[in-house]
Amino acid sequence: MSTRVSTPFTPRPSLRSLLAKTQSVAPSETPVQFQINYHAAITRDSCADGSIGASDLSIIILANMATDLDQFDSAVHFDNCAFKPGVERVSELWRLIEAETDKQNLYNLFGTMIHTVQDFYAHSNWIELHQNVSPLPAWDLKVESLPAGIVSGRFLLDSPKLCGPNAPTHDQLNKDSPSSPEGSKIVQDGPNQGQTLFRLAFATAVEATVVQFSRLKKVVHGA
Ligand SMILES: [Zn+2]
Repeated sequence: MSTRVSTPFTPRPSLRSLLAKTQSVAPSETPVQFQINYHAAITRDSCADGSIGASDLSIIILANMATDLDQFDSAVHFDNCAFKPGVERVSELWRLIEAETDKQNLYNLFGTMIHTVQDFYAHSNWIELHQNVSPLPAWDLKVESLPAGIVSGRFLLDSPKLCGPNAPTHDQLNKDSPSSPEGSKIVQDGPNQGQTLFRLAFATAVEATVVQFSRLKKVVHGA
């Protein structure tokens, strides 16, 4: 089976205006996947040290957000229990990133890659399975280290569909926004008591994205 990698998008003017909006406007209530303004916020929080310049970071964020225009491939968003295809997408994109000599292409590839990394926390039950652990660990993106009982939401539009029949739907499981049914749930006890599942998904997605930025900085700066 060949690895599918979506073609990275070239930033478009309409997306640039969208980017400007994410810097000033509160999150909308549009029920799409990890709402794209959160992808922007997670990405900014993951690279706050200024080591990637503002214009390069904008390319990364636009490519990340544009990735939600593809709602037909489970691997892109870790939907439908597509853990192995998702890992393969991330690996293949890293292979391309490390071979890329054009900086804009490289940042486009990186932006779409981290979209997938971030969606894992909003679309799977990783957060629920680790809600009594603090700090909540980021996944190392190895299929063999996934815990027993891991699922992600079933999403009608995209495929492959690899969940068993009893897996929850995307609508039931997603933590794409603070107001989604699952994202708004509050941890009742333990070290994360009082936190919403959305907040934990966001924070863990930041941790996971920091790891990816560390690798990017080695590629870009050779450090
Ligand atoms: Zn997505």
